[in-house]
Amino acid sequence: MPLQQDEPRPGAPVLRVHRLTKTYASGARTLTVLRDVSFDVAEGETCAIVGPSGSGKTTLLGLCAGLDDPTDGSVELCGIDLGPLSEDARAEVRNRYVGFVFQTFQLIPTLTALENVMVPAELRGETGVLDHARALLEQVGLGDRLDHYPAQLSGGEQQRVALARAFINRPTILFADEPTGNLDDETGTAIERLIFDLNRAAGTTLVIVTHDLDLARRTGRIIRLKGGRVVSDEPTGVPGAVQDEPVEEGPVEEGPVEERSVAS
Ligand code: ADP
Ligand code: MG
Repeated sequence: MPLQQDEPRPGAPVLRVHRLTKTYASGARTLTVLRDVSFDVAEGETCAIVGPSGSGKTTLLGLCAGLDDPTDGSVELCGIDLGPLSEDARAEVRNRYVGFVFQTFQLIPTLTALENVMVPAELRGETGVLDHARALLEQVGLGDRLDHYPAQLSGGEQQRVALARAFINRPTILFADEPTGNLDDETGTAIERLIFDLNRAAGTTLVIVTHDLDLARRTGRIIRLKGGRVVSDEPTGVPGAVQDEPVEEGPVEEGPVEERSVAS
């Protein structure tokens, strides 16, 4: 389906988050999960989003990837404002530019490893991706597990399949939500190495949510969330990483902020 608003603006940051706010109604109260969050991520940049549990990291990543709608503010992916797009158009932008890796892998249980990896390419109407899918599975060390179903794979192996799937469409940006959170240390380290290898090989921009500070320090920049606000946004000094202007520090709060609804 052709889109009117889906042409990337040349020179635009890969991700632009502007004054993003997300609230949920909770009885007569409003739960503010994200409040006035702004940052840009440049092409090829690697950055980590860290913060305590409940600080809004998963919500933020979902909004950035167009999986969810903000209450206020905007998200631009490759210069495309997601706000005015229909659900279908957003899915198309996601399919074209975004790879996503979940903490819980989210493979389709009835499909083999190889079939899982090919799904995003097939959604895009691409045929002839068998060799590419096979090569990606080989790259993540699963060349001998192509026909295994998710239930026949370990957690680390499932996450490798999920990584191969995330890269099948050669995404401009990869979002990973605690990709090593459900894995033991050794397996987690192997997955991290793969993420950075794939990032380097394909020049993919990387945004990783993690509570692992060692992982965060391997990226070029750490954005810290607390109570739904950005409390710091700083370069790590990792060479070669693209840097951005640091965002002003906001007040420090624990967890989401509950307020009485104004309209009551
Ligand atoms: P994190 O990933 O940093 O642990 P989340 O983004 O998952 O945090 O959640 C932030 C807060 O938003 C939590 O307090 C959570 O309960 C709340 N929240 C998330 N999703 C919803 C929802 N669909 N409805 C209501 N509250 C939600
Ligand atoms: Mg989370």
